[in-house]
Amino acid sequence: MTINRILEIIKKNNAEADLDLLRLVYDFAKEAHQGQKRTSGEEYIQHPLEVAYKLAEYKMDLATIMAGLLHDVPEETNKSLADIEKNFGIEVARLVEGITKLGKIKYRGLERYAENLRKMFMAIAEDVRVVFIKFADRIHNLKTLYALAPVKQQRIARESLDIYAPIANRLGMEEIKCELEDLSFPYVYPEEYKWVMEISKKRYVEQTKFIEKVSKIIRKELEDNSKFEFLNIAGRSKHYYSLYQKIIKKDMDIDKVYDLVALRIIVKNIDDCYRVLGYIHKLWAPLPGRIKDYIAQPKPNGYQSLHTTVFGPDGKITEFQIRTQKMHEEAEYGVAAHWLYKENALKENLKISQNKLKWIKELVNEQKDNQTAKKYLRALKLDFFKNRIFVFTPKGDVIDLPEGATPVDFAYHIHSDIGNKCAGVKINDKIATLSTPLKNSDVIEIIIDKNRAGPSEAWLSFVQTHAAKDKIRASLNKKSRLNIFKFFGK
Ligand code: MN
Repeated sequence: MTINRILEIIKKNNAEADLDLLRLVYDFAKEAHQGQKRTSGEEYIQHPLEVAYKLAEYKMDLATIMAGLLHDVPEETNKSLADIEKNFGIEVARLVEGITKLGKIKYRGLERYAENLRKMFMAIAEDVRVVFIKFADRIHNLKTLYALAPVKQQRIARESLDIYAPIANRLGMEEIKCELEDLSFPYVYPEEYKWVMEISKKRYVEQTKFIEKVSKIIRKELEDNSKFEFLNIAGRSKHYYSLYQKIIKKDMDIDKVYDLVALRIIVKNIDDCYRVLGYIHKLWAPLPGRIKDYIAQPKPNGYQSLHTTVFGPDGKITEFQIRTQKMHEEAEYGVAAHWLYKENALKENLKISQNKLKWIKELVNEQKDNQTAKKYLRALKLDFFKNRIFVFTPKGDVIDLPEGATPVDFAYHIHSDIGNKCAGVKINDKIATLSTPLKNSDVIEIIIDKNRAGPSEAWLSFVQTHAAKDKIRASLNKKSRLNIFKFFGK
C-alpha cells in the first residue's frame, strides 16, 4: 500500500480535501513507526496505510482518514497524543485517543467480553467515527492473522465474530459486517469453513449461470420498453459465513438455501424502482404475500428497497431487490453512509448520525452503575441487538424502542410518572391493551389516571425494556414499604 493510492481515492470522492495535510500526517506516522516491523514481517507503516485506505474506500471524511494513519502512534511509538494534537489539531487527536481507549482491555473471559462491548458502545455514543477506524484496524489485523500465535488468532477472530460483526450489523454496515465474519470464519470454525467451501462450489457455478440468464432477460425487457437507464444489476455477492448461518437455519440442507436466487437492481430514482417492479411482474408471476415495499415503509434501521419474489425462468423461485444508488449505499454502509457526501456537510451529517445513535448513549448511561459482568452483558445485549422500532407521540415526536416494546415501555420511556399513572392506551386512535406489541410508525397516546396508585405487578410479565422493568420494580418496592409503614401504623 502507498500513500499515493489513498490520495487518489480521496481526490475522486472529495475534490476539496486538503491532500497536502494528509501527506504531512503520513510523513509524521512513517517517521514515528520508523524501523518497526509487523509480526508478518512487513514494515509497520503498512498497517496504518491499509487502515487509512479502507477508510478512504468507505469515503470517510479527512479527519477520520488522518486518524487512521495515526491510530497506533501513541501506543506503539515514542510520539504522544499531545504531539498529534499540536501538529494536526484537536479533532484528529480526539479520534486517535478514542481508538487508544478502545484498545486497552485488561480483563479475561466474560469480563473481557463485557468490557469490550461497553467500550464499543461508549465510543459509538461519543463519536461513531472511532468505531469505523476500529473496524478498519480489525479488518487488516484479521487479514494478517496468519502471522500470530494460535491463541491470539482464536481470541481476535472470536472477538470479531462475537462483538465487532454484530455491532457493524446493528449500525447497518452490511459490507463491513460480512468482511469481519468471512475473515474470522476459518479461524473460529475451520472444519465448518472447509465444508461450506466444498459444498457450495458446484451450486455456486450453477447459480451464477442462472443469474446471468435472468439478468439478460430483464435487461432486454427494460431496454426494449423504456427509456430509463439502470445503473447495475447483479446477483448478491456470496459470503461464506452468512451462507453457513443460512444452511444451519435450513436444517443443514444446502439445496434449500440455493432454492432461492436473489438479484439486485439499482436504478436512478424512486419512480424507476416501481417501474422496474412492474416490468418484473409482467415477465414473471409474483408469489403471493412476498411483495414488500420498504421504500414507503422503511425497516427500523432505515433500510429501503422494493422486494418481490417471483416464479422466474424454469419456474425457479427468484427474489428481486430494487433500490436507488443512495438506498444501496445506506444499505451497505449504514450510518457510515452519511459521510459519503460533501466534506462541508460533514458537521451536519455528524450531528444527524450522532442523534440517530442517541439511544446508545442512554443505554450506556442506564447501565453505568456497577453491575456484575454477566448481568450487564445480558441487559446490554438484549436492548442493543434487538431491532429497534420507531413510534410517534401524538405531537409527532419520534420515540425509538426495541422491537416487541409495549405501550407501558413507551410510557416509561417518556417519564416515570406517565408510566406509573398509565391506565390505558390508544394506538393509532384505537383503544388497545397495555401489552400490545407496538409496530413501526404507530402513533401512541397514553391515557393517564391521576388517581392511579402506581404500576401493576402484572406489567413486569410483558414489558421489554430494562428501564421500564427497573422503574416498575422501584415503584412497587416503594409502595410495599409504604404499606408496611401503614401496617405498623407509622
Ligand atoms: Mn492498529
